Amino acid sequence: MSLPQYIGRFAPSPTGPLHFGSLVCALASYLDAKKCNGTWLLRIEDLDPLRESIRHASTIQDQLDIHGLHWDGEILYQSNRLPHYQDIIEDLKQNNLAFDCDCNRKRVKELGGVYDGQCRNKIKFRGDVSTRLLVAKTEETKIFINDEVFGDYYQDVYRCVGDFILKRRDGFFSYQLASVVDDEKQQITHVVRGSDLLPVTPRQRYLQKCLNYRSLRYAHLPLVVNLDNQKLSKQRKAPALRNKDANKTIWHALNILHQKPPSYLFGAPLDQILSWAVWKWDISLVPTQNQCVINDISSRSAF
Ligand SMILES: [Zn+2]
Repeated sequence: MSLPQYIGRFAPSPTGPLHFGSLVCALASYLDAKKCNGTWLLRIEDLDPLRESIRHASTIQDQLDIHGLHWDGEILYQSNRLPHYQDIIEDLKQNNLAFDCDCNRKRVKELGGVYDGQCRNKIKFRGDVSTRLLVAKTEETKIFINDEVFGDYYQDVYRCVGDFILKRRDGFFSYQLASVVDDEKQQITHVVRGSDLLPVTPRQRYLQKCLNYRSLRYAHLPLVVNLDNQKLSKQRKAPALRNKDANKTIWHALNILHQKPPSYLFGAPLDQILSWAVWKWDISLVPTQNQCVINDISSRSAF
């Protein structure tokens, strides 16, 4: 039997241009796919049109192109998939695997974030409702992830999360639902992304099981942080990538991923650096500690 083909993806939310931290994730995901002669897809996770814009989605595509990270095939936009997500929710409800909930944020907070199932059998609701996945107490909720970077990761979704949100009361679909449904739609086999998403991976795996989807391979990457150990993020106004010196930025990203790029490649043509990086890519070298961007590097490079 032949091994399944490798299909990876990069799935940014277009809340702003890419910053250095998101480029590191894109690069690692790209290299892991290309090392395996795989396909690398781009998915724009534009679930929340209030915060996100077509302009940023187009900037992200330009930034990936300029950094030599060319994706395969058509781009999938989650904003085109809303009726499909709703169909999935209806199917889950039909199978008694999802239910509406009108508990307010304060009540859920008082529960310590682990939902207690109060609305599972409710018929009458007050105001807008959210939809939750029913996470019953079974052995199935005990999820083991064998992460390619972080190793074994265990979480009991029943005990640690409870019935979780698939659709928010404001009408937006949750990241968990859309991400799981689209990984299946795109036949993704490998997910390489930031370690801030490792704690939500077990609930995604549980949802995959409820929907009879395949399981995926995961690799979570250390976060790129600033000197105050804060994740670089759009919310913290991390500087956007400058297009100038894309080759040097890629060299720094390889260094952050502990791929040991040789100094002679610093400033070399982008094609040359990326060919070297695909040839030498070794995910076992990726560290599990958060990686700090030192001011000195960030000031003389392109991020
Ligand atoms: Zn409720």
